[in-house]
Amino acid sequence: MPLTGVHFLLSYQCTYECDHCFVWGSPRAGGTISLGLMTEVLDQALDLASVTDVYFEGGEPFLFYPLMIEGIRLARERGFSTGVVTNCYWATAVPDAELWLKPFGGLGVADLSVSSDAFHAGDDEDPRPGYAVEAARSLGLDEAVITIDPPVVCTTPDEKGLPIVGGSVRFRGRAAVNLTEGLPRRPWTDFDECPDEDFLDPGRVHVDGWGNVHLCQGVLLGNLEATPLRELMESYDPRRDPIIGPLLVGGPAELVRVYDLPHEGGYVDACHLCYEARCALRERFPGHLGPPQVYGAEETR
Ligand code: SF4
Repeated sequence: MPLTGVHFLLSYQCTYECDHCFVWGSPRAGGTISLGLMTEVLDQALDLASVTDVYFEGGEPFLFYPLMIEGIRLARERGFSTGVVTNCYWATAVPDAELWLKPFGGLGVADLSVSSDAFHAGDDEDPRPGYAVEAARSLGLDEAVITIDPPVVCTTPDEKGLPIVGGSVRFRGRAAVNLTEGLPRRPWTDFDECPDEDFLDPGRVHVDGWGNVHLCQGVLLGNLEATPLRELMESYDPRRDPIIGPLLVGGPAELVRVYDLPHEGGYVDACHLCYEARCALRERFPGHLGPPQVYGAEETR
């Protein structure tokens, strides 16, 4: 399958600092994309000819509202379907939320996703996602698929009756550091495949404000400032990549084996082991693992 989706990490800055955030978003984080780079990436996506969908995510994209709206306009101008993922911090009441969402109708935004962050802003009763949904409906944005996806951490017995961690949280980024304590763990050797990413045939990439192209958060295909997207895709050789190659052979456990990494006896899930292994390898493979922001080294530039 060719690459069909480009997802902009419009900025790493966010109103919240959620424990489950993969990219260590926070109010202090930087990495906001420039209009120039965003336009260049859209042109490169068009040149690739296979991209159909462009998403605006973060961080929190509504923090950079004029940039987000212009990005949607430029993407629509090039014929891409567009979507936005937001934590709804801006939806303080239904009429106010309508003000923010009004341009979406004219621009033909196809997908407004109310991200799970809103449920982890420290207030389970937060009404803002509901206000955003109501405003979208009152504006007739019915064609937009509005998804609300709260992360859940739950433990259920496996086939041996041992507790395993389920739910929709993956333990990478800040989640690997802040949410793993006290959870049941499985032997590290169990994690012999990546549960989420199709590295042989990636269908979408994330692009951040520094030009990094992510296959999974922090696992880089390359940088668009140095190499255009078409060239990156054409020269992509997953089996020879020093990080993706081992992941394909035997999952995160293979990273530990191949690079003889220090490790604990058990991890909560595959992403937990993968994230810890990548942290240990980051300085050795800076072009493949980055940026530092995604590994907890906050960058405010
Ligand atoms: S195992 Fe690693 S590469 Fe796969 S989804 Fe988890 S963090 Fe990403």
